[in-house]
Amino acid sequence: MSDANIDLHTHSNRSDGALPPAALVERAAAAGIDVLALTDHDTTAGLDEAFGAATGHGIRLVPGVEISASWRSQSIHVLGLWIDPSQPALRTALDGQAQRRHVRIRRLCAHLDAQGLPGTQLLAAVEARGGLPTRSHLAAALVAGGHARSPDDAFRRFLGRGQAAQLAAGWPPVAEVVGWIVAAGGCATLAHPARYRLSASARRQMLADFAAAGGRALEVVTGANATQHVEPCSRWARSHGFAASVGSDFHDPQLTWNPLGRLAKLPPDMTPVWRDRLG
Ligand code: AMP
Ligand code: MN
Ligand code: MN
Ligand code: MN
Repeated sequence: MSDANIDLHTHSNRSDGALPPAALVERAAAAGIDVLALTDHDTTAGLDEAFGAATGHGIRLVPGVEISASWRSQSIHVLGLWIDPSQPALRTALDGQAQRRHVRIRRLCAHLDAQGLPGTQLLAAVEARGGLPTRSHLAAALVAGGHARSPDDAFRRFLGRGQAAQLAAGWPPVAEVVGWIVAAGGCATLAHPARYRLSASARRQMLADFAAAGGRALEVVTGANATQHVEPCSRWARSHGFAASVGSDFHDPQLTWNPLGRLAKLPPDMTPVWRDRLG
């Protein structure tokens, strides 16, 4: 699979992506992708539809999920790649995550309400979309209601670090999340490792904890615009013995800086996370 076009991190509208799973697969095929993972936030609800579409488009679909976890006070995203979405313990765990997301979005809206924003209306707008609620949906509702100029503005003013986001963390510890993925036969892969605000020593400890829990890989190539992260992520993978993954974190065709299927290659000495998975 050395020349294959591989993208192991994408979102559909079952979480905060813009496209239904089948349309995502179609777009991936048009972009020349051979192997695609659908990794919605805390849900596998799009996988059946994606598998149905993949066959017709000659795409190998990797069943995946991006699970929200916590390490100390940080939110950490762990990709489960090649999971069995029907595994009972994973199903129970993801039901718990869905519950946490519904509770969290209500708390975020109550918090915004206390700041003078129309919390009830914002909650109704988010819940009307269906799928699992995320802060992206709340950002979209804030923009639609004229309370923010753009999703980025909404995150900066209301939903980002130091804002309401801190209020409602409470994701399970990263070791527990890795355990769910491993129990479901998946490969636990740390998403966008350069995005967490950690000191060098805290990052080393987090990576060591992730490895000790059964974490196997780091997303070394992530997004079209983050080539400066490839080298540090490769270094961290080498020093902790992790395999390496590649994923765009694609959400929306309108976010033109983050397209499907235009990812940098892994450094040649990295062990690709797909090495033993794709024949
Ligand atoms: P959640 O998982 O509910 O905390 O929502 C996090 C999601 O919000 C991420 O997966 C991104 O898709 C999105 N996001 C985070 N920060 C920003 C930002 N500054 N602008 C737009 N979207 C963002
Ligand atoms: Mn997202
Ligand atoms: Mn993420
Ligand atoms: Mn993602």
